[in-house]
Amino acid sequence: MKKRLIWILLASILSLAIISLLVHKGPDGFIKTIGNIVSFLEDDDDYSSLKVHFIDVGQGDAILIQSDDSHILIDAGERHASDTLIGYLKDNGVTKLDYVIGTHPHSDHIGGLANVINNFQIGKIIMSNAVSTSKTFEELLDTIADNNLKITKPIIGTEYTIGNASFIIIAPNESDYKNLNDYSVGIKLVHKENTFVFTGDAETNSENEMLQNGIDLKADVFKLAHHGSSTSNSDDFLNALDPHICIISAKKDNSYGHPHVEIMKAMKDRDIHLYRTDEQSTIILESDGVTIKSNKEPYKINDKDLIRSKP
Ligand SMILES: [Zn+2]
Repeated sequence: MKKRLIWILLASILSLAIISLLVHKGPDGFIKTIGNIVSFLEDDDDYSSLKVHFIDVGQGDAILIQSDDSHILIDAGERHASDTLIGYLKDNGVTKLDYVIGTHPHSDHIGGLANVINNFQIGKIIMSNAVSTSKTFEELLDTIADNNLKITKPIIGTEYTIGNASFIIIAPNESDYKNLNDYSVGIKLVHKENTFVFTGDAETNSENEMLQNGIDLKADVFKLAHHGSSTSNSDDFLNALDPHICIISAKKDNSYGHPHVEIMKAMKDRDIHLYRTDEQSTIILESDGVTIKSNKEPYKINDKDLIRSKP
């Protein structure tokens, strides 16, 4: 009987020793293995995360995409918010913006862009052929010229690589619109299995064109167009994207009533994880290529969001 107990003890000690030889914890906290036992990380040289920051710039859009050491900036908010934006970019280690996308010439999108261009090294600037006679827009064109930069026009289907990700141009599909919002440059960003769609302030008219251009629009994340306006984000468009995460970039109590009740209802009906810069300030999403994490809990849609506050 005693002999059997000793054997069991010896066997247990031996097993523990073998296990500790085979498995050790890597410095990054993930379990790594020795020998030909399955490894979670060692053979995955592609492992890297992609971060998308929806920066709180009040009423407007400013979105930073970080992939490895490469950066994209989509819009730059109003000029008065540009110090905040530039500080945020510097705090996040940005020295160069590989791509800058000015979706369309409204000041809540390109107002801060001239200051951004003067503060960072700039790769490509992508802007549609929309024109505006506003002082803000003319000053932006002057700043681009003064910095010896050229504007790259968005061509549907053109693909750009950025770090470990890529993006494809999905809008605008025409060159002449009545509404300046419809000139918005739209992109679909792909990071392995995760996809994100950004369409600036594109209205239903441009959304319908995107639905017809043959590009698969299915997306995990959609930055709701035009700050959550009901003149964008149509049912057909939401059906095609079928996102499970949406973001609204707007200012609290803005004079436009953004986000509109219809869109808040659509978010609730579709059980979408919604995030709002007006209620939750800057939102950061991080993709490992398969799953997406965020720095905040999803916004809880309440009764007040579903009642029209303006006639
Ligand atoms: Zn806007």
